[in-house]
Amino acid sequence: MNKSYLKSYPDENGYFGEYGGAFLPPPLVGPMAKIEAAYKKYSRAADFVNELNYIRKHFQGRPTPIHYARNISEKCGGAHIYLKREDLNHTGAHKLNHCMGEALLAKYMGINKLIAETGAGQHGVALATAAAYFGMECEIHMGEVDIEKEHPNVVRMKLLGATVVPVSFGGRTLKEAVDSAFAAYVDSPDDTFYAIGSVVGPHPFPVMVRNFQTVVGFEAREQFIEMVGELPDHVGACVGGGCNAMGLFAGFLDDDGVKLHGVEPHGTGNELGQHAATMTYGTDGEMHGFKSIMLQDENGDPAPVHSLASGLDYPSVGPEHAFLKSIDKVEYHTASDKAALDAFYAMSRYEGIIPALESAHAVAWAMDVAKDMPGQTILLNLSGRGDKDIDYVAATFGHGEDYRL
Ligand SMILES: *Cc1c(COP(=O)(O)O)cnc(C)c1O
Repeated sequence: MNKSYLKSYPDENGYFGEYGGAFLPPPLVGPMAKIEAAYKKYSRAADFVNELNYIRKHFQGRPTPIHYARNISEKCGGAHIYLKREDLNHTGAHKLNHCMGEALLAKYMGINKLIAETGAGQHGVALATAAAYFGMECEIHMGEVDIEKEHPNVVRMKLLGATVVPVSFGGRTLKEAVDSAFAAYVDSPDDTFYAIGSVVGPHPFPVMVRNFQTVVGFEAREQFIEMVGELPDHVGACVGGGCNAMGLFAGFLDDDGVKLHGVEPHGTGNELGQHAATMTYGTDGEMHGFKSIMLQDENGDPAPVHSLASGLDYPSVGPEHAFLKSIDKVEYHTASDKAALDAFYAMSRYEGIIPALESAHAVAWAMDVAKDMPGQTILLNLSGRGDKDIDYVAATFGHGEDYRL
C-alpha cells in the first residue's frame, strides 16, 4: 500500500519536493534541532495526544460545526456552499489550534516562556491565550504602527498577561517585529520557545503547524460525509502563510476526487505592492529561513504587499503550498479587496455570520465560481470571525446598506 500523503511529506530534512528546509543562523541550528527532536518524541505519544485532545474539546470547544450556507448558495445559483466554522473555535479563529499545540510542546520540553511577533495581533492573542492556559510567560513583539492600528488586540494580549514589546525601528510593522522577536529569541533560545504563527519558517515549523491544524480537515471530512453522504467535490480556503488551508486540505489529500483550492488576496491591482498573491506573481526564493515561492523586489528582498485582510499580507507562502502547486494537487486563485468586502457583506446579511476579512476571500472565490458548478458541493474553511474587522469596515466602507446579492 502507498503511504498516505501526510506520512510521505515532508522528507526528514523538512523538504516538500524542492521547497522548505531550514536556513538558519548558526546560533539557532541547535535550538531548532532540539524542537524537532522533542516534536518527534512527543507528538505521537499518547499522553501528549490525549492532553491536546482534552484541550481541544474542553477549552477550545471543538469540534467546530459545518454549516450549509443555504441562502448564499441559492442566491449564487449552482453549487452548494458549506462552511467549516473555525470562527467558533475559542478566540474566534483557527490559530489557537496550533498555538495550544506549540505551547504544549514547550511544556513537555520544560520551557516556560513563549515568544512571537504579531502583525494584526491575531497570532499574538492566540499565543497569549495559550500562555495563560499553561501559566507561561509570553512576550509578543509588535510594530508601533500596528500597535496603534490594532488597539483592541493589544488590550486583549495585555489582559491575557502577555508583555507586548513595541518595535520602533524601520517601518515599525510586521517585518521589523519579526527581526525584533528573532533577536530576542537568539539571545536565550534554551529557555524560550519561538512559536511561529503559520506553516512557514524553518523546519520543523511547517510540518508541525500543519499537523496541529489537521484536526480541522479530519473533523470536516467526517462531518461532511455524515451531513451530505459523500465527500465534497471542492474544498477551499484563504491562504496567507497557509495554515488554515493546510489544516482543511489535510483531510482530503488522499481523496483523488476532491479538488483543492487556495485563495490569495489580489488586493487593489497587479502591481508589486498592491496585492499579496504569491502563487500568481511570485518566484522561487528563500526568506525567513525556508525556500518557497515569494514576492521579491529587484534585490531579492521581500516585496511590499497589500491586502484588505492584514492576516493575508505576507510576501511568501508555506513551502508545502509551493510544492502542492508544483505537482498540480492544489489550484490557486485570487480574490480582490472589493470581492472580499462584498463577500463580507453577503455573509453578514444573508447568512448571519460576520466573517473575518481573511476568510471572506475564500467565500468570494466560491461565490464567483458557484454558478459554473451546478449541483456540486464546495466546502470552505471559515477561518475566523469578523468582530476584529467591523469597526474598520464600517468606518471605511459603511454598513453595506446598499449591498444586495
Ligand atoms: C491569520 C489568519 C489567516 C491567515 O493565516 P493562514 O496561515 O494562511 O491560515 C486567515 N484567517 C484568519 C481569520 C486569520 O486570523
